[in-house]
Amino acid sequence: MADVRTMEFELPGFGGELLRPGDPGYDDARTVFNGMIDRRPAVIARCTSADDVAAAVNVAREQDIALSIYGGGHGVNGSAVVDAGICADLRTMNRVDVDPDQRIARVEGGAKWGAIDASTQEHGLAVTGGRMSDTGIGGLALGSGSGWLERKFGFACDNLVKAEVVTADGRQVIASEDENADLYWGLRGGGGNFGVVTAFHLRLHPVGPILLAGQLMYPAPMAGDLLRFYRDFIVSAPDEVCGGIAFITPSCPTRRSTCSSGTPPSPSHPSARCSCSPEAARSAASPRTPRPSGSGTLSGTCTISRCGTTRPKPTATSRIRASSRAR
Ligand SMILES: Cc1cc2nc3c(=O)[nH]c(=O)nc-3n(C[C@H](O)[C@H](O)[C@H](O)COP(=O)(O)OP(=O)(O)OC[C@H]3O[C@@H](n4cnc5c(N)ncnc54)[C@H](O)[C@@H]3O)c2cc1C
Repeated sequence: MADVRTMEFELPGFGGELLRPGDPGYDDARTVFNGMIDRRPAVIARCTSADDVAAAVNVAREQDIALSIYGGGHGVNGSAVVDAGICADLRTMNRVDVDPDQRIARVEGGAKWGAIDASTQEHGLAVTGGRMSDTGIGGLALGSGSGWLERKFGFACDNLVKAEVVTADGRQVIASEDENADLYWGLRGGGGNFGVVTAFHLRLHPVGPILLAGQLMYPAPMAGDLLRFYRDFIVSAPDEVCGGIAFITPSCPTRRSTCSSGTPPSPSHPSARCSCSPEAARSAASPRTPRPSGSGTLSGTCTISRCGTTRPKPTATSRIRASSRAR
């Protein structure tokens, strides 16, 4: 594979902005959600159309240059950015069009779930999406896509009816049950690398506008009781009820209001990362200071979607208390 670190190369037919090392905005554009990732693409190609994506794919293939696709940048391994290669940045392709009559949304490949939810909810519609509004549709939907509505409506990929795709040979194709059915099959849960999805067409469902949702926080020592309770509760809960459990520890530097150098979090990822160097983030993240056991917090979240016959169950709080007492 070509090492393009010192090469100057063009992207014929590319109509978007190109950012190279040293350009204003380059460092911000190469950051991803995971603050420990520090990769320096030779060029960040901010795509505005499927033609731009095809131009980036073609140059990467013809000149044997590594290519990464930046959707929402939430992939924990940082595969959105590549050292010394081309990063095809889809964040500028984030349009969401809703057809309320057909109950279909066409969503460009760089959109984030917050924008998708806001657009579909204007029509009282929704589709299973990311639990965090900052997550991109690209990596999430292609990797199946688990979210609050999944028990009622399936994973995000179950609701993918059609995809507009740029393939590795630079062709622009449709993948659906009727066209390129094999590709369509692969896109629904197989992850990236089958092609670059420039637009997702998603089936929508009536949801809301009234939802019952919330987050309950428990001390970590209650984890065993809470997990046992949740296991039993969710098995018999109606499909409209969704939930999740997260272990939240205080050691994560990204939760601080300032990082170790005193820099406030970056505006693009306010709750997620520091805008200081990845080295500082890494060192803040290292577990040098032992934490007392049980110092974390256990958070359980429960959503009840009022899209059908749902009636709220007894609250999780009252039942966990009863369950704890019984043990
Ligand atoms: C805080 C947080 C919360 C999360 N919550 C959830 C959740 O609720 N449910 C869930 O299912 N997952 C969740 N995830 C996991 C998340 O879905 C994956 O990390 C996903 O890959 C993120 O997609 P992205 O587009 O933002 O990431 P990126 O880092 O941009 O992309 C990840 C990979 O997908 C590929 N890709 C992205 N867009 C496209 C595209 N348009 N066409 C082809 N390939 C593409 C990229 O090449 C890359 O390899 C969460 C992750 C984080 C960090």
